[in-house]
Amino acid sequence: MSKDYVIALDQGTTSSRAVLVDREGRMVDCVQRSYQQIYPQPGWVEHNPQEILLSQLGSLTELVSRHGLSERNVAAIGIDNQRETTMVWDPSTGEPIANAIVWQCRRTADMVQELCGTDEVRRMVQGKTGLLPDAYFSASKLRWLLDNVSGARERAEAGELLFGTIDSWLVWVLTGGMVHATDETNASRTLLYDIHEGRWDEGLLALFDVPACMLPEVRRSASLFGETSYPGVPAGIPICGVAGDQQSALFGQCCFEAGEAKNTYGTGCFLLMNTGDVAARSKNNLVTTIAAAAPGTERTQYALEGSVFVAGALIQWLRDELGLIRSAEETEYLARSVPDNGGVYIVPAFTGLGAPYWRPEARGLICGLTRGTTPAHIARAALEALAYQTTDLVRAMEADAGRVLCALNVDGGASRNDFLAQFQADVLGMRVRRPQNIETTSLGAAYLAGLTSGFWSGTDELRGLRGDDDCFEPRMGRPEAERLLAGWARAVGRAM
Ligand code: ADP
Repeated sequence: MSKDYVIALDQGTTSSRAVLVDREGRMVDCVQRSYQQIYPQPGWVEHNPQEILLSQLGSLTELVSRHGLSERNVAAIGIDNQRETTMVWDPSTGEPIANAIVWQCRRTADMVQELCGTDEVRRMVQGKTGLLPDAYFSASKLRWLLDNVSGARERAEAGELLFGTIDSWLVWVLTGGMVHATDETNASRTLLYDIHEGRWDEGLLALFDVPACMLPEVRRSASLFGETSYPGVPAGIPICGVAGDQQSALFGQCCFEAGEAKNTYGTGCFLLMNTGDVAARSKNNLVTTIAAAAPGTERTQYALEGSVFVAGALIQWLRDELGLIRSAEETEYLARSVPDNGGVYIVPAFTGLGAPYWRPEARGLICGLTRGTTPAHIARAALEALAYQTTDLVRAMEADAGRVLCALNVDGGASRNDFLAQFQADVLGMRVRRPQNIETTSLGAAYLAGLTSGFWSGTDELRGLRGDDDCFEPRMGRPEAERLLAGWARAVGRAM
């Protein structure tokens, strides 16, 4: 029987999904299960790894029974996952020693400050990992578990415990405990991995006091990790694509070549640019990270990454806190109902300003109000703010990469807003391309697994599957765009 499908397991921060993808790259079906967010203290965030498993395997088995799936009609499984979230388990029992510490958790902020306080250490860490030392990444979370769970350090040093990001955990469970591995993109988010040498780094392990014996083996994203061997899941399906969610989305957007980039407009924004085999070093507070590459790519591929903290969350704020709109979609109609922003700018620095400014103490503002300002102007200014923030990141990235983008691929919930997409094209002076399927995160995992298993022949075939994008060409004159950007720059200056 010929294989008809690949399955993507999309392990996100608030839910797990199993997605069925056919040969034409269409999403045939998707089962989604949410799970609990655990907040033990202000600023702390945890997930119960068994609940992650239950939601992920539950969605998988539901998909399997709906479509009569088995190793006979499924070519491969790919996994994409929330990055940086850290857990430790005992392979002899399969029991996690504690809840997973989620990427958002700030409990180790002081520890990182203490360990990486000097310029010398920061430079060393950034040089090797491409990241800025921060509690966000896995290393300090792992150290926290070893220092705070009773007996953990002794057991880890005796080789009795395993560390993993969520991809490792899923691979280990799905292969019946046979494989303890992760992929390069997830490894590159731990703060323990030398992205240039392609190995766990002894100096970083010493800095964070992590025993090497608990680390997973690192493999290419597009490679065989193992075969399914778990009760209730069809046996013998190869797991042969793994990537962190943002790198998976970059791949799912078909950004296979250096100079191609995507921006995801969700709660926040994530902008990634493929820089090929060059690990570009940022001067603008962006991070350098490993990108997923197609099978057969000889050299490690890299990306520059930057994020906007508050994007779709600003629209939620207009809806839930200000009560200015009833739904996020309504912003589009409101924004179009006025000829321009009426001089109003919103800087949504609720939690400070991220790259390229990096001013944690900055706070949000709305400026340029007059007696004529209406809710429509505010809604328009909010959508424009998403586009201005993205423009700042794109310009910083172009400077760091030493190349100019020719188009921006967009996805994420807010990318459905046509006003936003057009305004983004206008202020950037660049074509904005929105694929028909904006679920690019799961698509990337499916693509990686499908290429590795030979389900698809190569990246050219994948590009062909993409269908017709919605394209937004810049229509605004440059002087007008520059005038608006100057207004934004003045507003940002005030927020700082
Ligand atoms: P996440 O994955 O971060 O939860 P999604 O990709 O699901 O986010 O996108 C949801 C976000 O996008 C929400 O913050 C919402 O306010 C915003 N959003 C959704 N639809 C629209 C729209 N049509 N216009 C503007 N913002 C939108």
